[in-house]
Amino acid sequence: MSVIGFGGIPIQGVDAGEAGRVVRAALEEGITLFDSARVYTDSEEKLGRALQGRRREVVLATKSMARDRAGMAREIETSLAALRTDCIDLYQVHNPGSEEQLTQVLAPGGALEALEAARAQGKVRFVGLTGHSRPLLARALGCGRFDTVQLPFSPLESEACGDVLPAARAAGAGVLAMKPLGGGALGKLPRAALRRGLELGVDVVLAGMDGVEQVRENAAAGRAEGPLGAAELEALEAECARWAGEFCRRCGYCKPCPNGLDIPFLLLIEAYYTRYELEDWARARLAALSKRFTDCQACGQCTERCPYSLPVPELMARAAERVR
Ligand code: SF4
Ligand code: SF4
Repeated sequence: MSVIGFGGIPIQGVDAGEAGRVVRAALEEGITLFDSARVYTDSEEKLGRALQGRRREVVLATKSMARDRAGMAREIETSLAALRTDCIDLYQVHNPGSEEQLTQVLAPGGALEALEAARAQGKVRFVGLTGHSRPLLARALGCGRFDTVQLPFSPLESEACGDVLPAARAAGAGVLAMKPLGGGALGKLPRAALRRGLELGVDVVLAGMDGVEQVRENAAAGRAEGPLGAAELEALEAECARWAGEFCRRCGYCKPCPNGLDIPFLLLIEAYYTRYELEDWARARLAALSKRFTDCQACGQCTERCPYSLPVPELMARAAERVR
């Protein structure tokens, strides 16, 4: 498959006609991997419609948040119908967020049983796992039941080189990078960021795409040969250094906050508001929380626990100003 994959989040925001144009442009440019999820609203439907008649040319991946066998079995059928196919190449367990959830997925009666049964029936070819917690993913790979792992990975967030990537290699699993532009932080240097992600050892970078020009730029990054040039590498390193003091990896080591703030989620809301310009999404998530940016009492406990020493009180104060 192509080393640049089509991330299926952004096409939720365009109409079906534009989604079709973007997907056709991706095919013309040699992109053959398309990744979606049950929770990406109409992303699977749009991909299914746009890829009709081209199914054999592509590798289709999707994922579900179901944690038990019955729920996952239903989700697989829904995905098959939405994607207009009788077999999904890669079906992933979507982001188990805790040890308890992962244990449920792996246990008898868990979601993995449904995926393995679907594979035996020919409805799914490979079974994968996605997530944000590196220790959890590394542990899960040890069970030997996952063909792939998908996690946030970019030149800004490449710590997986020390744990998840070796665990994946040991398990014979492929590695898909989500958020290869650092959640938009490296958006000024997409070509360099995508290429560097691949150089660092992942198999595929999944870039979200909702415009034809963007598709062409991303696909060109995947076709480039040889290592990144010195000037591009220097610019990328400078950009990474610029973000180093404020880029949250959502690892959760800063928890718990004595005032009940969900620190990684609040910082994610701010990032989505400012970098992805998903202002309504961010406002709605913020409104649903009982503790918000201004509830931070600047006690500093989180900064002491954060492996990157992020100045969380300052970031909370800045977010309170920005997210309106
Ligand atoms: S603030 Fe630091 S410890 Fe907390 S989630 Fe972000 S990077 Fe991890
Ligand atoms: S500094 Fe703010 S966010 Fe961090 S632990 Fe203290 S109150 Fe919570």
